[in-house]
Amino acid sequence: MEAHAGRGGMPSTVAETASGRCRGPARARGALLLTAAGLAVAQGGPGITALGPVRQRWFPGLAGLGKADHVALTFDDGPDPGSTPRFLELLGSARVHATFFLLGSMVARAPGLAADIAAAGHEIAIHGWDHRYLVLRGPRGVRDDMSRARDTVAEVTGAAPRFFRPPYGVLSGGALAAAWWLGLTPVLWSSWGREWKRGATPDSVYATITRDLAGGGTVLLHDCDASSPPGTWRAALGAVPMLLDECARRGLRVGPMRDHVGHLGTGRRPGGQPSAPGPASTII
Ligand SMILES: [Zn+2]
Repeated sequence: MEAHAGRGGMPSTVAETASGRCRGPARARGALLLTAAGLAVAQGGPGITALGPVRQRWFPGLAGLGKADHVALTFDDGPDPGSTPRFLELLGSARVHATFFLLGSMVARAPGLAADIAAAGHEIAIHGWDHRYLVLRGPRGVRDDMSRARDTVAEVTGAAPRFFRPPYGVLSGGALAAAWWLGLTPVLWSSWGREWKRGATPDSVYATITRDLAGGGTVLLHDCDASSPPGTWRAALGAVPMLLDECARRGLRVGPMRDHVGHLGTGRRPGGQPSAPGPASTII
């Protein structure tokens, strides 16, 4: 879950050049990292969703903006045996692949299900080990959390995760540094369903998504209610067919992040050493 009711969390915490290439001297990048950390704290409160347009304008990679004829479909917080299989069934019948940002703690409880997600052809990504605000943890704790999640997810699924989305969508300087070290590219979203809001329905989720839906966008939904009111995943599940129909009507392909932002790379292999010095992702 990224921004549960009343929790907010839509930061624009890192600077990324429009060309997707890292620029500027190391000192400048360090300053930006510190700025990002400060912004992450400052922007962690409720109401930050209003800054979504700012993020999309100035930090397009972080906002998940990719190919203009494509929409990235992403799910966070799983896997959960009580709900994730329903999403796999639906996506399988629609012949659509998505990106699942998994929690390491959830994977540890359902490793077979995590493997099933990967075996079905979906992209595996990292959401951390615990669902906690990273800005409230020290750099070592953040790195340990992300490293543990990355290693467990990679071992269980056999996948090489490329993308990382922080819990609540709130980054920190420590998280950015850990992501770089682990070869993960941070990515948030450009539209969401807010299905975690109590009382949400498939129609309300669909209406919320389409408010910001556009080619090149990344949609955030949740395939479980581990971090939200019980049963809220059903609203997300019910909205997916409508979303797929709408994208088809607009001539937009729907798929995982790997098909959305192919130019984003990490330069590292999970468990491996950096292939080159310096940040290899497009994030400062
Ligand atoms: Zn989450």
